[in-house]
Amino acid sequence: MAKIIDGKAVSAMIKESVAQQTKELVSSGIKPKLAVVIVGDDSASRVYVNNKKKACEVVGFESVEYALSKDTTQEELLKLIEKLNNDKSVNGILCQLPLPKQIDEEAIITAISPLKDVDAFHAENVGHIMIGNYTFLPCTPAGVMELLKSENIEIEGKNCVIIGRSNIVGKPMSMLLLQKNGTVTICHSKTKNLKEITKSADILVAAIGVAKFVTADMIKPGAVVIDVGMNRDENGKLCGDVDFDDVKQTASYITPVPGGVGPMTIAMLMQNTLMAAKKQNNIN
Ligand code: NAP
Repeated sequence: MAKIIDGKAVSAMIKESVAQQTKELVSSGIKPKLAVVIVGDDSASRVYVNNKKKACEVVGFESVEYALSKDTTQEELLKLIEKLNNDKSVNGILCQLPLPKQIDEEAIITAISPLKDVDAFHAENVGHIMIGNYTFLPCTPAGVMELLKSENIEIEGKNCVIIGRSNIVGKPMSMLLLQKNGTVTICHSKTKNLKEITKSADILVAAIGVAKFVTADMIKPGAVVIDVGMNRDENGKLCGDVDFDDVKQTASYITPVPGGVGPMTIAMLMQNTLMAAKKQNNIN
């Protein structure tokens, strides 16, 4: 039976450390500030934004929300981004995705100053990650790395398989595992013989967006299974990309949904915002 990696506990420790460092910053007159932009009324985005604002409060940051109507034009959003880029009191800018279809997400991501890009989605920050010389790491893959570290899971020389190649999860995840000397394979919807590949994984990261996609017959006994997915099952209950009850019998470690990668993403966002505030104030 797999050991469950407790993302809530690990994320609480990271937030505690961020809160301590924030106290020191505040005593020297600097209060980190995160600007959160939400466009439209997507209910999942609303929950994510509320959770991020709540986390800011917990660690002692200031947060300011810009809730724009679903009809907002790209030009209007770009104007707001420019204003936030130029606002010295704002250290981090987060534009909640997805954006309504009249807005080109890439254009918005590119408009955010790389110094305030606490999601690490800007091409400049992505490039730094490729090279291995970065300030910000994208929150979800960085959170996965912290979970592996929390259990002293060795990455070097291990077969690491990622299902999913999105810009925000799969691709950067592959870079971070590679930097730790894992042997990395990325799978996607066109991958042939997926099961054969996943069965070779010592560490399997599922970032697919399909409820309970990964089943025990896809797992090598003793594998570490990290579930990034956030889906609803047939009863509307939150679940991951991994069939948890099935896979936990075969894996050595597994992350639950909820309570695994999700809370880590928010903790890493707090860490990035703190780092942004320090950098912008020339503090190491
Ligand atoms: P995405 O952009 O939709 O990417 C999904 C990836 O899965 C794509 O690369 C796709 O392949 C691949 N895929 C889909 N069906 C597949 C199949 N049958 N076999 C193999 N690969 C398949 O999703 P994402 O943004 O990376 O998110 C993935 C999941 O993580 C979602 O459930 C999302 O809600 C969740 N998520 C959670 C957090 C968190 O904080 N916990 C953060 C971000 C995302 P193609 O490229 O070929 O289409």
